[in-house]
Amino acid sequence: MKTIRNIILAALAVLLLVPCVQAQDLPRFKKMVKQLSSAKYQGRGYARDGVRKAGAYIAREFEKSGVDEVTMQPFTLNINTFCGNMEMWADGKKLKAGYDFSMREYSPGAHGTYPVYHVDTANFDADRLFADLARPEYANCFVCCEFWFTYKHRAAFSKLQKAGECTNAGLLYEWTSPIKFYKAYGEKVVDKPIIWVTPEAIAGVKSIKVNIDNEFLPNYQTENVIAKVNGRRHDGCYVFTAHYDHLGNLGKKVYYPGANDNASGTAAIITLAKYYAENQPEYDMYFIAFSGEDANLRGSTWFAEHPVVPLNQIRYLFNLDMIGDNNPVQYCEVSDAGMPKYEVFEAVNRAHGLFKALNRGELAANSDHYPFATRGVPCIFLENQEGDAFPYYHTPADNMKTVKFDSYIPVFKLVTSFIEQDVK
Ligand SMILES: [Zn+2]
Repeated sequence: MKTIRNIILAALAVLLLVPCVQAQDLPRFKKMVKQLSSAKYQGRGYARDGVRKAGAYIAREFEKSGVDEVTMQPFTLNINTFCGNMEMWADGKKLKAGYDFSMREYSPGAHGTYPVYHVDTANFDADRLFADLARPEYANCFVCCEFWFTYKHRAAFSKLQKAGECTNAGLLYEWTSPIKFYKAYGEKVVDKPIIWVTPEAIAGVKSIKVNIDNEFLPNYQTENVIAKVNGRRHDGCYVFTAHYDHLGNLGKKVYYPGANDNASGTAAIITLAKYYAENQPEYDMYFIAFSGEDANLRGSTWFAEHPVVPLNQIRYLFNLDMIGDNNPVQYCEVSDAGMPKYEVFEAVNRAHGLFKALNRGELAANSDHYPFATRGVPCIFLENQEGDAFPYYHTPADNMKTVKFDSYIPVFKLVTSFIEQDVK
């Protein structure tokens, strides 16, 4: 009898778990990550309107999810792009864009053949560097140096970036492989070209040939995509955010798929929207796919300055960025206003056996939670760092082959269980 009772209890437990098991939607999540990181959206950058097409796709997916309202919030930004020629040779050897070299985001284009001057970092002397560069053989050269060394000696190296200060034509910053491409400070173009290059590709190289185009887009219009699910009450809300923009193109052939960064977070908030559209929440729910994140948090900053709901109505904001990984320990950052409820995350994580642990780091201006954190909004930033996908972020290899799907379900359960606890 006891066994039968146990079987019945176990069956009941399974039945009770059913809504929870069906809440997340891993197949749809994967499908949307694949779609957003496909060539159709060209790395969700600005030059080929990839970001615009991606925004329209996201709006359609929100509609399909049964949300009550989808609105586009336009804003403009100035952005430097690279979608034309992107060719470089080192002593006659052709280098591979995105793998051997990439561009500093605020670099102009570069065309021609140039001698390379390698900085002697072991016996560095700024006066000797400038004396060397004044010699005729180094007129119009590219100065090559390990990036962090230039950062340490930025007083000297900043002179090499400005027209009229020094005769060098440009700079080569060495950065270890896999080489990254950033966009954060691409809202301007500086005087001289700056190229990131791997130490292997440039070691001992005497001259480079480059054929690199840039295109600066002033006042490019892009959009945040905002979906809303009405709650039973409207005196407060929860907000899910994820940026959908990424790095776009590096030349005609290379684009940055950004499967982990941040097709993963975008797809996750769309499945969360569907979940709440099907299970009416206590409070209003907002799902915001931001543009302009990789261009220095422009979309989230715009929203925080022009919110569609007063920021003091936000009970909690969850920012998902790069959750396409497999670290069993989940990284997070929490705003000061969010700290009193941080223990709820710890408790639901333990109770549901989601992640091995949460690892809370210092709050930083590294994703879209930041403009809200600085405005007193309770928020958490969830990024699954240091897993197998992590080395590839901001490289062309952040794609469907390297993205991981392990952290989607535990992240989904973490945020939905938090809300369940919070509204009690
Ligand atoms: Zn990101």
